[in-house]
Parts: sequence; C-alpha cells; structure tokens
Amino acid sequence: MLRPRLSQTPLVAGLVEHECPRCHAAVELPFGTLCRTCRDQIERRASRLGHLAAAVTTAALAIYAVIRMPADPRARLMMTLAVVVWYVLVRLTVQRAARELLP
Ligand SMILES: [Zn+2]
Repeated sequence: MLRPRLSQTPLVAGLVEHECPRCHAAVELPFGTLCRTCRDQIERRASRLGHLAAAVTTAALAIYAVIRMPADPRARLMMTLAVVVWYVLVRLTVQRAARELLP
C-alpha cells in the first residue's frame, strides 16, 4: 500500500507552485516562475535601470564627441548616429542583465 504524499506538488510533468517563490502570495504557477506582480515589478526596475545607465553613458559619450570631433558635417552625422546606437545598445543590454539578475 502506498503512503500518502506529504507534498502537494506532483512528482512528474506539470509541476505546479502553490505560492510565488518571491512574494509568497498564494497562486497557481508553473514550477520556477514568478507571479504577475513580481514580474511587472522586476520589469519596471530593469527598465528604469537600463534607461538610467544608457542616459548617463550616452551623455558622457556625447560630451566627448562634441569636444573631440572635427567640424566636418559628415563626421558629426556619423557621431550622432553612433551616440543613438550606443544609447539603444546600452539600454537593451543593461535592461536584459537587470531582468535576469534582480532579486
Ligand atoms: Zn510574487
């Protein structure tokens, strides 16, 4: 005769969490996932951090470019494009890293 299991979690496929591992709210979730509130919170923090890091580094790059670049209009255009690309790449990179690493 089989003994009753102590855990409410099934042992095979379809593992279910009965509470969010981060905020401990009682919800039904696939194993290893967070609740909607926690995911939104992490996404907002990651977005803010990505924007802040991109803004600060882009401002430093833009100041350096204004000081060091020659007055040639083509060089200025290319530097402007480089600054825009820098902002986008830094924002996406920091946002992704923060989304993965934030508790
Ligand atoms: Zn949660």
